[in-house]
Amino acid sequence: MNVSDSELMAGILTQSGHRTVSHIDDADVILLNTCAIRENAETKVINRLEHLNHRKRREGNLIIGVCGCMAQHLRDKLLKAAPYVDLVMGPDAYRNLPMALNAVANGDPFLGLQLDKSEDYADIAPIRKEGIRAWLTIQRGCDKMCTFCIVPFVRGRERSLPLKLLTDDVQRLVDEGFKEIVLLGQTVNSYHDGQHDFGELLWSIAEVDGVERVRFTSPHPADATDSMIDAMENCPQVCKQLHLPLQSGSTPVLERMRRTYTAEEYNELVSKLRERIPQIALSTDIIVGFCGETEADFMQTYQLMADIRFDSAFMFKYSDREGTLANKSLEDDVPESEKARRLNEIIKLQEEISANINQDAIGTTASVLVEGDSRRDAEQYHGKTDTFKTTVFPKENAQVGDIVNVEIHSATAHTLIGEIV
Ligand code: SAH
Repeated sequence: MNVSDSELMAGILTQSGHRTVSHIDDADVILLNTCAIRENAETKVINRLEHLNHRKRREGNLIIGVCGCMAQHLRDKLLKAAPYVDLVMGPDAYRNLPMALNAVANGDPFLGLQLDKSEDYADIAPIRKEGIRAWLTIQRGCDKMCTFCIVPFVRGRERSLPLKLLTDDVQRLVDEGFKEIVLLGQTVNSYHDGQHDFGELLWSIAEVDGVERVRFTSPHPADATDSMIDAMENCPQVCKQLHLPLQSGSTPVLERMRRTYTAEEYNELVSKLRERIPQIALSTDIIVGFCGETEADFMQTYQLMADIRFDSAFMFKYSDREGTLANKSLEDDVPESEKARRLNEIIKLQEEISANINQDAIGTTASVLVEGDSRRDAEQYHGKTDTFKTTVFPKENAQVGDIVNVEIHSATAHTLIGEIV
């Protein structure tokens, strides 16, 4: 989402005559686009700012801005922690960037933190790097109100972009050479533009002439409707891969999180998805150590992960965020050392599961979109399978952007290794 928002900011600034430079040392303006989801994301930004301030002290006219969710979240605190910051701007205020830079150049620090439910940036053309995979924001904000989550408070209420505008965007992206479109939204599958739901959007985008692959992130289990599942099952361009944040395997914890589903309902959804789309790859998000999580609750998460066997997972220790519902009404009572232990246990479990699933892929053939040179070896390409697994293979005659069949010879927990057949 932040990559996509940065492309949007580049679009706004390019329209007003600014340009992006390829090296940070050549920039007169440095904007950090930030995340507020966990405390350590914010700590990283503060460290980065201190570092930039060394340069600012040497070059008085360097402009430093903090944009995105952390700007929205910390507001005045940020200016106290980093008083040398010239510009602080939340996710609904980017239209003011050119004006803000002018103000700053005249010596006035700028604060733009108004959230605006009507702001969808529909008329702004993001500046994307040329490439294979394009991020396309189809929805902004979130209405879900999970008790642990800061997103609704820093990104505002949910709004969807009109289907016709999105399919036009996709046509343009295909014409520019993009092969894979990734639809983005905070709860992407609750998309509704007043006339069309998410399943209809998936069909419409997949049917744009020349689209090879469509994916989306991150959906919410409560909005995994039949309309969405039908499109995933029956539309060949829609990848057979789903990121489905579980958060916890304990129903009482899910209730306190206000996730609106029980562990049983989640499990039933997984069974239904696997029945309808047998080759589907599933990934998830897990939070350990949420308020009141007992050892027994944690073991239910562990057991459900062992039963479901996700292809991969993002796993986090609960981080108490000021302004969230949990921060106001629940006690962050699991000790840090206990959170760390629980996290390590599920990471270990997931590594084993991911490695086993990838081992099982040895001997099979996967269709892979060629994305570029492998990081470790310029004689090899890397790309992703339909199920979003990183695959590395010798170049042969393939070009970047081709979809090739790769026979898998070996595998690690995170990578498949093979050759084109
Ligand atoms: N709406 C997006 C949220 C992105 S945040 C989505 O549903 O995917 C990605 C993940 O961060 C969440 O799924 C959750 O697992 C984790 N997360 C969010 N708030 C958190 C917090 N306060 N502490 C720890 N992890 C958190």
